[in-house]
Amino acid sequence: CGIVGVLGNHEAAPILVEALKRLEYRGYDSAGIATVNDGILDRRRAVGKLVNLSDLLVHEPLRGKSGIGHTRWATHGAPSILNAHPHQAGQVAVVHNGIIENFRDLREELATAGISFVTETDTETVALMTQRYMDEGLGPVDAARKTLSRLDGAFALAFLFQGEEDLIVAARKGSPLAIGHGQGEMFVGSDAIALAPLTDRITYLEEGDSAVLTRTSLEIRNADGELANRPVKRIRTDQ
Ligand code: GLU
Repeated sequence: CGIVGVLGNHEAAPILVEALKRLEYRGYDSAGIATVNDGILDRRRAVGKLVNLSDLLVHEPLRGKSGIGHTRWATHGAPSILNAHPHQAGQVAVVHNGIIENFRDLREELATAGISFVTETDTETVALMTQRYMDEGLGPVDAARKTLSRLDGAFALAFLFQGEEDLIVAARKGSPLAIGHGQGEMFVGSDAIALAPLTDRITYLEEGDSAVLTRTSLEIRNADGELANRPVKRIRTDQ
């Protein structure tokens, strides 16, 4: 129900949890974060309030300056740790708002290829399909974009990859997504309010956009895959 992402210069976990707190107003049943640290992709998830995730992180810290986070409002699969986001398949972690309408077809296609599922969510399909394209030789950005081209529904997505500490891929189709520009840092969030303590410079993705973020660059393509210019707006951060 809420998405955040950080390519930062400080430990990402507390920043992600703080940003997720600012999205609590949307409601949620579980939460989780993933980071890349020394190239290794790892995640922590908890059912219930964000404090449960914070407590877990005290006992099982997650280091790294790059990460994604999620508060979930379950649509497919019960609220459980297993079904909580981020979903991970091999080198790919994904957070997702909304619904992938054609996930049953995609799931069948992957199952036919011998790929097995561990969750009941529509989201896991996205991670598995992206990993499959990477196994076929595509780089993370191309694999994510190819997966995005196959998805029907209304959603927002953010991808994080093992071995990639300076990369998040994000996409918007039906659910809003904002990119925040920092000083040598880049952020993503379901809305600008989530990012308000981090930056007041925001680029809103438009319908069908996908974005490739690094700490120092933002490349946005429209639904046709063409490079798109989206303005950087100054927002009020006193809210
Ligand atoms: N459809 C996804 C799920 O049930 C995402 C729900 C959400 O927007 O939080 O896990």
